[in-house]
Amino acid sequence: MPELPEVETTRRMIAPYLEGQTLKSLVYDPSSRYQNLDLALGKKVKRLERRGKYLIAIFEGDKLELIVHLGMTGGFRFEGSSHTRVTVTTEQGTLYFQDSRRFGKWIVVAAGDYSSMPTLHGMGPEPLSSDFDLADFVDAASSCGTVKPWLLSQKPVAGLGNIYVDEALFLAKIHPQSVRLSKEQATKLHAAIIQVLTRAVEVGGSTLSDKTYQQLDGQTGYFQLEHRVYAREGQPCVVCGTPLEKIWLGGRGTHFCSSCQVLGA
Ligand SMILES: [Zn+2]
Repeated sequence: MPELPEVETTRRMIAPYLEGQTLKSLVYDPSSRYQNLDLALGKKVKRLERRGKYLIAIFEGDKLELIVHLGMTGGFRFEGSSHTRVTVTTEQGTLYFQDSRRFGKWIVVAAGDYSSMPTLHGMGPEPLSSDFDLADFVDAASSCGTVKPWLLSQKPVAGLGNIYVDEALFLAKIHPQSVRLSKEQATKLHAAIIQVLTRAVEVGGSTLSDKTYQQLDGQTGYFQLEHRVYAREGQPCVVCGTPLEKIWLGGRGTHFCSSCQVLGA
């Protein structure tokens, strides 16, 4: 699933086609996954923002927003295909939203009204902004439950999914099943989250072996080449050489080094 770096890369790529542009045509599959889109027709996009894993197009007048969640397999391309679900045309050109598994969602809402989207509504601070306050994070982490699902909940911090949680926990030397982090652990984790996401955004996110995430022109991201633990089970830890492990935690494949990330340490 696209996480913050992939959604941010997508935002940067499609912004020139949308910002300052009027939506001249919007063609979409009849599905409850695409709601109220006709309200956006003929409206001019003021800014294309990102919040966590959501894209948010804010229209001029500040009354309406178009929220796009890429789901598992959603992404934008310059060319249509049998998996095209939404086609958007502005003066700058046409963008095709592809989504083979159809978990993506587009909805036009009154500006700031996220009541129909509980994850967006309750979302924590943006990790690459000054809102991601260290003292607040340390405080929240001191009473957290199992750290990996806690991070995936989007409540302590926005935008992390399975890949970047595993990578950040490895960098911070914290076992994914840890609970109630010490101040030292939480401080390291805060820095690791920023480090991992900053680097991943720089290189265009991660394209996995299924190749579903690509940039507009079909280029891959490159952060998968820098994964230290994600999908590397059985391979030696880059720090200590111990074979990496994979366990299932809250239904998610979880990758870590049992020597570098000791439970209860
Ligand atoms: Zn190790």
